[in-house]
Amino acid sequence: MTTIEGNLQGVNERIHQACAHAGRAATQVSLLAVSKTFGPEAVAQAVAAGQRAFGENYIQEGVEKILALRASHPDAALQWHCIGPVQSNKTRLVAAHFDWVQSVDRLKIAQRLSEQRPLDLPPLQVCLQVNVDGGPTKSGVTPAELPALAEAVAQLPHLKLRGLMCIPDPVEGFEAQRAVFVQAKGLLDRLNAQGLALDTLSMGMSDDLDAAIAAGSTLVRVGRAIFGSRSARA
Ligand SMILES: *Cc1c(COP(=O)(O)O)cnc(C)c1O
Repeated sequence: MTTIEGNLQGVNERIHQACAHAGRAATQVSLLAVSKTFGPEAVAQAVAAGQRAFGENYIQEGVEKILALRASHPDAALQWHCIGPVQSNKTRLVAAHFDWVQSVDRLKIAQRLSEQRPLDLPPLQVCLQVNVDGGPTKSGVTPAELPALAEAVAQLPHLKLRGLMCIPDPVEGFEAQRAVFVQAKGLLDRLNAQGLALDTLSMGMSDDLDAAIAAGSTLVRVGRAIFGSRSARA
């Protein structure tokens, strides 16, 4: 067994246990393997171990990996999520190559992604990144501005709004972590009560995925616990 295969088994086991503790079915939570800074060989090892969904932060690096894996594994049906900041000058690359974008926090970026989504591809699946714990310098739409942004993004023809993503600042302890994630779940529930049909709540990373699952996460994003530690850049 490769290290990556063993790590994936361990992370999937943690997800199962967190679901069991939360009284949720394990099928309600999926794993996004965050492969940023790791090469195509590492992704290929994860694919061999059964993983299909991968997250990338850096657009150019992500696109190179997407193309490499499409060439080496043409039948693998991989799913690629952009989880890093998207500047205007990168929307065309994202729209052309990724399946999901989880980091949309401005209407202008969403409009460009919709306009630039190639017509032979399915709609780009989108989560809005929400700044749930309110750090003033952080990316993400504020909870107050979220409903209007969600309504507007839901109208765009070549996007499919799926839900919310959040990256709270690290806090110590299960209950403190869970309290922040519960706020994100509340925001999702409110949007659905307003008539949107959102099914995705992307939250939880290596250190807080148990609390995120307890609060209703449907997608946890894990990098180092699968691929190992990264160099200083990330
Ligand atoms: C890097 C990253 C992750 C994964 O973090 P790890 O600490 O490697 O598990 C998850 N989400 C986002 C948005 C990231 O940038």
